[in-house]
Amino acid sequence: MTSDRTPLDSGAHIALTERYAAHNYHPLPVVLAHGEGAWVTDVEGRRYLDCLAGYSALNFGHGHPRLRARAHAQLDRLTLTSRAFLNDRLGPFAQELAALTGHEVVLPMNTGAEAVETAIKVARKWGYRVKGVPEDTASIVVMEGNFHGRTTTIVSFSDDKVARDEYGPYTPGFRTVRYGDVDALRAAVDDTTVAVLLEPIQGEGGVVIPPEGYLRAVREVCDTASALMVADEVQSGLARTGRTFACEHEDVRPDVYVLGKALGGGLYPVSAITADHAVLDVVTPGSHGSTFGGNPMGAAIGHEVCLMLAEGEFQSRATRLGAVLEEGLRPFVGRGLDGLRVRGLWAGLDVSPGGPSGRELCERLLARGVLAKDTHGSTIRLAPPLVVTEDAVQLLVEAVGASLG
Ligand code: PLP
Repeated sequence: MTSDRTPLDSGAHIALTERYAAHNYHPLPVVLAHGEGAWVTDVEGRRYLDCLAGYSALNFGHGHPRLRARAHAQLDRLTLTSRAFLNDRLGPFAQELAALTGHEVVLPMNTGAEAVETAIKVARKWGYRVKGVPEDTASIVVMEGNFHGRTTTIVSFSDDKVARDEYGPYTPGFRTVRYGDVDALRAAVDDTTVAVLLEPIQGEGGVVIPPEGYLRAVREVCDTASALMVADEVQSGLARTGRTFACEHEDVRPDVYVLGKALGGGLYPVSAITADHAVLDVVTPGSHGSTFGGNPMGAAIGHEVCLMLAEGEFQSRATRLGAVLEEGLRPFVGRGLDGLRVRGLWAGLDVSPGGPSGRELCERLLARGVLAKDTHGSTIRLAPPLVVTEDAVQLLVEAVGASLG
């Protein structure tokens, strides 16, 4: 048996994890022990620039002082009540999140997938109660290349074979259309359509930015068809793209925001959906819930996240540093990269055929002190914490250049 007091080296940790933890991930061989801001340190004391940032859950960096202070204080006061009782943190959090989104009401959950499930349930109930769709016939239009989480219903409408295969029977009620294709969307909606569910930028898909005007067109299709526009901003939201929400790049207000990841500041799982009363009032006591959703610990952290975002500094940093990143990476297009998509401090890089695979590129970056993750073979995504310095962004650019060569 090992104990926490026995220091283990990376090799021993890797062996232990391989032996006792299920193999549902294939991590890079680095064992992290400490994090501060944009930097993490492994058990041997080597430092790395974290350019995955917990899949954007760490937008504010590791251990942001404001979030840490808020969490410490709450840990000593009250952590869980269940929603059978009220707590003194949920109301202020919900008020602040409503203000941030421009929506009237908030339904708190924990993980991103739970929030997506919540949005699906609310959209269906809204469809039956408000739109008048005959019960059990609701359809929801989703996008090719989507990633919304891992539940059985969500993988039912995924086109990622690895995520989906052998988890059937699958949940019906979803229609898939090509992302970015307005005509396909128009053709897919009908009287049974209660919602269009999309990521305003597809994160796991490789930071796929739809054509300019697409989000506005989706808004218009939803209005015409009396369907809810549900924007999953679990990964794209909360300052990553230079705006609080990626939908803002097209001045679009969706009917429902699905939020997660950075809402818990990387300290704690906090997710939520937000909408107006006309939508969220279909939820009645007992019709949906979660033991941990809205707990005072998560609500205190989420509240602080909202207050930080309301100041706008993270959004400006994402815009400014994203421009530095793009300027630095652009010369590699045609010289190791086939494609580059950047929005705020979020980049998808397609490695040219004949070059390293996405995984190999990430291994080379690791050797140069940069942590990144491939998504779908030859694409890697860069998403450093928004507290990263300009010098560190330059370092990232140099590491990518050297690793492509
Ligand atoms: N939605 C989007 C857009 C995501 O990127 C993710 C996770 O990557 C999820 C939902 C699921 O979030 P979680 O892993 O917290 O369940």
